[in-house]
Amino acid sequence: SGEWAKAMAIVKEFEEKCGAPEVKLKQVADALTVEMHAGLASEGGSKLKMLISYVDNLPTGDEEGVFYALDLGGTNFRVLRVQLGGKEVGVVHQEFSEASIPPALMSHSSDALFDYIAEKLANFVAEEEQRFQQPPGRQRELGFTFSFPVMQTSINSGTLIRWTKGFSIDDAVGQDVVAELTKALQRKGVDMRVAALVNDTIGTLAGGRYTNKDVSVAVILGTGTNAAYVERAQAIPKWHGPLPRSGEMVINMEWGNFRSSHLPLTEFDHALDVESLNPGEQIFEKITSGMYLGEILRRVLLKMAEEAAFFGDEVPPKLKIPFILRTPEMSAMHHDMSSDLRVVNNKLKDILEISNSTLKTRRVVIDLCNIVATRGARLAAAGVLGVLKKMGRDTLREGGPQRTVIAMDGGLYEHYTEYRKCLENTLRELLGEETASSIVVEHSNDGSGIGAALLAASHSLYL
Ligand code: ADP
Ligand code: MG
Repeated sequence: SGEWAKAMAIVKEFEEKCGAPEVKLKQVADALTVEMHAGLASEGGSKLKMLISYVDNLPTGDEEGVFYALDLGGTNFRVLRVQLGGKEVGVVHQEFSEASIPPALMSHSSDALFDYIAEKLANFVAEEEQRFQQPPGRQRELGFTFSFPVMQTSINSGTLIRWTKGFSIDDAVGQDVVAELTKALQRKGVDMRVAALVNDTIGTLAGGRYTNKDVSVAVILGTGTNAAYVERAQAIPKWHGPLPRSGEMVINMEWGNFRSSHLPLTEFDHALDVESLNPGEQIFEKITSGMYLGEILRRVLLKMAEEAAFFGDEVPPKLKIPFILRTPEMSAMHHDMSSDLRVVNNKLKDILEISNSTLKTRRVVIDLCNIVATRGARLAAAGVLGVLKKMGRDTLREGGPQRTVIAMDGGLYEHYTEYRKCLENTLRELLGEETASSIVVEHSNDGSGIGAALLAASHSLYL
């Protein structure tokens, strides 16, 4: 029928606009490399903040003692207790507790957010077994993983530049997040010192390096997306401090805020951006990360419903609700292998109250999942290529292959198999077989929490 043809035309146009062929991805990678240089050259020199992490030494394996970590990154937060065994022993013990951030606290006040977190930490500390207690006279130490853009002023201080990923607590912007947390810990009577403030990318890099010395890049694909890597201190013109003895500095790229005319953007992305809490910002994040993929899909389906009666004469009311279709649901539909696509059917029914979907429409929904996920994963791969280029690791050097391991983490990467496969295949495609053999992508399972504990250990007052 005419309506069906109209719907298919919308799909076709969307697919074309999302196209990310190899040439385009290489342009994206080159543009990212250019922005990396600009962001390292001067403060504010690029949309890429290229933040100096004050981490100039990654874990060696010698770290020892009981340390805490707090991981606040988006939807959930975790508190961890980690016992490090010292030389060649590794992690002896780890335990954690997880809680979600009540949505109301994501836009209330700094005190309310940090009080909530401090209270969870207080509960966790209260359950501490005797054998994990600190020796007399020694305070507990914590690595704080805070995965929002922060201008660090030292390893354990830094001011929040702005919120991302749906947070919008105005009075926290410009504040030192360590000071905010420390005050809340005092209010809740928790005896603990924040020894290190890190981003999840930095934590993942540190956690990855602890188990594999070839790790020099970390990428997060979760609610948002970001990357960190090890840079030569000499190559950071905006760094005016003393040159670190290691000659290296870990850089938190904040690549979620990357944008370029080469990015394949559609009308749906523009509308999502304009209506978001942070219009004009985090454009790369808004087309690659978990917070947004399901929402992009919803927007395309809504247009098809409105303009081509894709779900019948009436537009399903639920389809009009922003963010109702979450990426885990999209991923579940995408992976539906049943012959009658019953997962798709159930999701449409349960989430959108669409009970009359035909097999044909379900197939189209899967096609759309594939288009959205493929674009995101291919762009994430282009981002990795851009970083490898900046590091000079995108081609084989003389003197034999130099292994580069990329530690990846985040719920999207971990659970969205099609996305992950596409990312890894695209990276191989972009690098070529020969170079690809020296680049390893490794899932760093919850490296960011352990990484923060490791960095707390290496920046302990009691060394
Ligand atoms: P955060 O990024 O908030 O620190 P995670 O790394 O755990 O936390 O990532 C959570 C995000 O990962 C979710 O917001 C969601 O977008 C995505 N995600 C979680 N589970 C799945 C899944 N099964 N399929 C696809 N995406 C998922
Ligand atoms: Mg996280």
